[in-house]
Amino acid sequence: MNFNQLWVLAPFSIVILIIAYLEIMMVYIFIYPEEKEILLLILHHLLLLAVIYSFYKTSTTKPGSPTQTDNEDDPLTTSRKTCKFCQNNKPMRCHHCRQCNKCILRMDHHCPWVNNCIGQNNYKYFFCLVFYATLTSVVYFCIYFNKILKNPPIGKIDTYFIIFAATLSFTLMIVLFLFLAFHTKLISNNQTTLEYFEKQREHYNKDLVSNCNEFLGPGCWLIPN
Ligand SMILES: [Zn+2]
Ligand SMILES: [Zn+2]
Repeated sequence: MNFNQLWVLAPFSIVILIIAYLEIMMVYIFIYPEEKEILLLILHHLLLLAVIYSFYKTSTTKPGSPTQTDNEDDPLTTSRKTCKFCQNNKPMRCHHCRQCNKCILRMDHHCPWVNNCIGQNNYKYFFCLVFYATLTSVVYFCIYFNKILKNPPIGKIDTYFIIFAATLSFTLMIVLFLFLAFHTKLISNNQTTLEYFEKQREHYNKDLVSNCNEFLGPGCWLIPN
């Protein structure tokens, strides 16, 4: 394994370290949980499972690339344009990703956190990942903040670890919420991140339900299946 391959693992390692820290502190707080706390812990770990499953699907699902066998009448999968990097046909909304070195259908962005491109086939999993990660960080923050309110800091070393966990989960909650709000706005405008920054505003916009169906599939939008 060379240095570049190790570097790719860095964002993933940061995520694992953050989750490990927050989970260890959770075990510390709830070493003898009360009955009502058990329900909260079950809810929290169901959300965490949804995060892990969405992460796995986002990272392992191919985002979709144009092929020569696509329906030639469909401008979203074929076109007369050719990519100057990989020489494949380049349909509408398709972009060449330099990290993946291939063209990606309805490319949103290349995500270093999942080490994959986010495109037509895995955008739904990516959105579910952001959605469930936001909810999980809210639960983390509420639990740690509540613990600090119940036991105000009195100089014990463990209190500082809990304050750090609350600060970490608060920061995560704010960042993830802003990211979720940004992607919700993009979906409602039928826009990708690339199109947003290229200022191709509302070029493909339809009604709200059609836009959601196009990005999150016709089934249940927030189930990563
Ligand atoms: Zn290309
Ligand atoms: Zn890529």
